[in-house]
Amino acid sequence: MSRLIDIKSLDLDELNEFILSMNEKKFRSSQIYTWLHQKGVHSFLEMTNLSKELINKLSETCSIVKVEQLDCLSSKEDGTKKFLFELEDDQVVESVLMSYKYGNSVCISSQVGCKMGCKFCASTIGGLVRNLKPSEMLEQIYAIEKFSGEKISNIVVMGTGEPFDNYDNLMKFIKIINSKEGRNIGQRNITVSTCGIVPRIYDFADANTDVNLAISLHAAGDDVREKLMSIVHQFTYEELMASCKYYTKTTNRRITFEYSLVKGINDSKDDAYLLTRKLKGLLCHVNLIPMNNVEGRPFEKSDEETIKNFKRILESKKITTTIRRALGQEVDAACGQLRRSYTNKSNNESKRT
Ligand code: SAH
Repeated sequence: MSRLIDIKSLDLDELNEFILSMNEKKFRSSQIYTWLHQKGVHSFLEMTNLSKELINKLSETCSIVKVEQLDCLSSKEDGTKKFLFELEDDQVVESVLMSYKYGNSVCISSQVGCKMGCKFCASTIGGLVRNLKPSEMLEQIYAIEKFSGEKISNIVVMGTGEPFDNYDNLMKFIKIINSKEGRNIGQRNITVSTCGIVPRIYDFADANTDVNLAISLHAAGDDVREKLMSIVHQFTYEELMASCKYYTKTTNRRITFEYSLVKGINDSKDDAYLLTRKLKGLLCHVNLIPMNNVEGRPFEKSDEETIKNFKRILESKKITTTIRRALGQEVDAACGQLRRSYTNKSNNESKRT
């Protein structure tokens, strides 16, 4: 990796400090920040309001991270677009653009691969390769905005990777994308999804932002959760619930629990009633996700009727519940599936040659 400073990963305070350390005037940092985060340029030469001298200094010491679009698949059914981006070290990540009535939402990846080991998830199959830098998370959004010509109003960090396993870079990313001098995307329009890394849930609560928290729960207790997720070996259900209570008390914000329904594993009436007891009194909302089949994984999605019944039971106990629209099925939009099919394809091709 290059030893140059990754200037797009600096927040405005850090950029100020850097610019002052070069004996330049402070207002230069706002100019540079605007070029990077609002105008999206990828060369210092394009920063036409800077002096030649400063452009030269920046070119010698800094790099402007860029992602290269490899592919874009559009779903004919619902217009969802899935993007594959190549990073500077040839790694590949995926992002998704979804259009809703309220605006356009982008789902970004936070890591290359993932080490969390959820047994139904395609992202975890090859393990973790590396964390994404703040600049690489930002670039997924900037590149989609540029390519599609659509304004992005919402962000979900629910693509490949575990955002709370890359916590500092995630928080820096949020700070930059939320900044007035950057894209100014409101904290309430950003959602971070975690498989439940308990110490980071406490940190996130203490950070006291308006960013939404989603937790991949997928079960009402450790025994069923263990069939689906390896994270139970690090943090028990009770520990997870205690951190959730702390979060809602500290922030007064609702948690979204994601619950992927898997046939015969976590979708019985008993599972639903147990879940209502576990979530009793907690400021929350449940989002039911029909399991997306992943090649080589033994899990099947629950029947539609079962899903509706599950929802009815939760609602009978006053838990607000939604069923996630299955967007982008034909474009492998479930977590990690497109990257996986791409890496499989290139592996097969290189095997053939
Ligand atoms: N690591 C984070 C975010 C990435 S996954 C997390 O675990 O929350 C985003 C959501 O999609 C999670 O709820 C995850 O459990 C779910 N998911 C992943 N693969 C899936 C699949 N094949 N079918 C249904 N849901 C899936």
